[in-house]
Amino acid sequence: MTRVLEVNSVKKHFGGVKAVDGVSFHVDEGEILGLIGPNGCGKSTLFNCILGQLTPTEGTVTLDGKPITGLYPAQLNRLGVSRTFQLLQVFPNLSVRENLILAGQEHKGTMLQRLFGPRDAGLTVDADRMIAFFKLEHLADQKAGGLSYGQQKLLDAAMAFMAGPRLVLLDEPAGGVNLTMLENLKERLQAINRELGATFVVIEHNMDFVMSLCSRVVVMAEGKVLAEGTPAAVRANPAVIEAYLGH
Ligand code: ADP
Ligand code: MG
Repeated sequence: MTRVLEVNSVKKHFGGVKAVDGVSFHVDEGEILGLIGPNGCGKSTLFNCILGQLTPTEGTVTLDGKPITGLYPAQLNRLGVSRTFQLLQVFPNLSVRENLILAGQEHKGTMLQRLFGPRDAGLTVDADRMIAFFKLEHLADQKAGGLSYGQQKLLDAAMAFMAGPRLVLLDEPAGGVNLTMLENLKERLQAINRELGATFVVIEHNMDFVMSLCSRVVVMAEGKVLAEGTPAAVRANPAVIEAYLGH
């Protein structure tokens, strides 16, 4: 199996706060890896270290065996790595379609071509195909700022795919999303994973979502990896139960 991402002993300290304190894990091609842990345990900070928003205090990150530590987000985009943020990053005054077109500016097209066929008509057509794929047709011309929170989260995820990535890191995509939309999101992620072999790392608090979506789960607590394994194994792990219930 091809190892896509490797995180080696990554630390990120903010003064005395050891937000990430020596984390190692890997992600194989085609995997959907869950990253869970109590609030404040360092999950988002770790994403930021992987994705160039922050420089790790120590440690390295490799993509396909090549170091990517310190690369800028735009450079990672060109290497096929994309992300969503815990806090929404949609442009409220632009329409759903315009948001997607903007998000597609960087893409190289490889994944979109496999998903939607040849790119003969440009970004607007890609955006409309993505809108249909995420079942957002009825919202295409509405301003993103006027959508419900759940609809904006779905748009945010769709925007991450406009960059045509093969590795996508999603930070709490299901947070605040209602059940119907959650099913839609899960189905879409599974379809992209299955049909294209795209690889995901998903931070999420919704346990049912993580357990039904992910093949493997890494559990963090207080900046470190507490456990790793199949969803069923980590759910039954006493240390994991303690980390969630012990505070
Ligand atoms: P999670 O995503 O798991 O909820 P975070 O990565 O957001 O956790 O935060 C981990 C810890 O690092 C928290 O204690 C948080 O307050 C701290 N932290 C995050 N970013 C910063 C920052 N820029 N400066 C100082 N402390 C930070
Ligand atoms: Mg977070």
